[in-house]
Amino acid sequence: MSAKSDLSKIRNIGITAHIDAGKTTTTERILYYTGVSHKIGEVHDGNTTTDYMAQERERGITITSAAVTCEWNDHRINIIDTPGHIDFNIEVNRSLRVLDGAVFIIEGVAGVQPQSETNWRLADRYKVPRIIFINKLDRTGANFYRAFDTLKEKLDIVAIPLQLPIGVEDQFLGVVDLVEMKAIVWEGGELGAKFHDEEIPADLKEKAAEARQNLLDTALAVDDKAMEEYFENGDVSIETLKRCIKKGTISGEFRPVLCGTAFKNKGVQPLLDAVVDYLPAPNDVEGIRCAPPEGEDDNEAAQPIIPVDPDGKFAGLAFKIINDKYGTLTFVRVYRGVLKTGDTVLNTTKGHKERIGRIYQMHADKREELTEVHAGDIAAFVGLKDSQTGDTLADAADPVVLERMSFPIPVIDIS
Ligand code: GDP
Repeated sequence: MSAKSDLSKIRNIGITAHIDAGKTTTTERILYYTGVSHKIGEVHDGNTTTDYMAQERERGITITSAAVTCEWNDHRINIIDTPGHIDFNIEVNRSLRVLDGAVFIIEGVAGVQPQSETNWRLADRYKVPRIIFINKLDRTGANFYRAFDTLKEKLDIVAIPLQLPIGVEDQFLGVVDLVEMKAIVWEGGELGAKFHDEEIPADLKEKAAEARQNLLDTALAVDDKAMEEYFENGDVSIETLKRCIKKGTISGEFRPVLCGTAFKNKGVQPLLDAVVDYLPAPNDVEGIRCAPPEGEDDNEAAQPIIPVDPDGKFAGLAFKIINDKYGTLTFVRVYRGVLKTGDTVLNTTKGHKERIGRIYQMHADKREELTEVHAGDIAAFVGLKDSQTGDTLADAADPVVLERMSFPIPVIDIS
């Protein structure tokens, strides 16, 4: 996609989790399901993608890429890698800065674990809107309600279920969707298993009605007009409810909770729907703050916020540099304007010029070469000679500095 993008159709998200909660598995499934949806109409037996995923996993390319792009329901989702391990806190910081929303995974047996708390607080610092996915509901000892309670106890948040589980452990079949009041049931646990809508099971009807009332009470409270609609009609349209959930998610007034099992392939498609429906587009959030002038770290007024602006002079932030067999890839989040292959930009952090060689977007199964990249989007540049993580690249005509790397970058040994 090189044409100017519709900002409302981009999601820049991260997936964060306590180690072992299922971040890798969920990311893989997301890439699988978005790949399948992308290839609808082509002649593909499901295995092609599966085999590809297996190879990718072996080589560890896609999953460890700084950002991978996929498509769902006509939206482009850029998944930015957010390292989960505590030692990577500075990396986590940096990646949190460039994303607009996050999927926060906890697991269905242990619930919120110490590292989840650390990551949650970090995401709070950057006011990252989040949806929560309670994973591993197929495991022995899993309990949605207990895991849900740990969200409130340990994170002290207003968590609000958008789904209830149908069954648990090896009897986990699917979810009740409390927004549309229907059951979504999978017809097996293998990759690509079909699913269908059905009536909410009789034994869950009462619980679902109660949970939906709770959802309405919480979600509609963020919007007076929606409240009016509710008082007039006794209910609201699905669109109105979704709009309120999105509003509350972005403001952080409450945190929507979904559930499933990534490993057994149940719940991932509705999670993708929720990413599109409830997490913000780049222009739904405020943009990025400029770095303070030297010695004025506490002076907020000297750090104006740069809104995401497709028509402004180019400005972007390098958030990760990866050396691979193709050379050095500099991953940049673009906040303003457009950057084209061959353009020269100013590294405003260092004060020197850089020429943009090729521009890529990384997908699960290919690198897509672009001719230009626009505000709101993420891409990898080849050809930068002397730019580091945290550096700002900008049009020399408006040389903003978006971030000053004031903290030391540790050498991370993962051997
Ligand atoms: P990460 O450390 O958060 O990236 O977690 P992984 O995705 O690597 O998962 C850790 C382990 O849990 C792996 O052995 C996965 O196969 C397993 N796992 C992940 N999701 C699920 C799930 O939904 N159910 C079950 N039973 N196992 C899972």
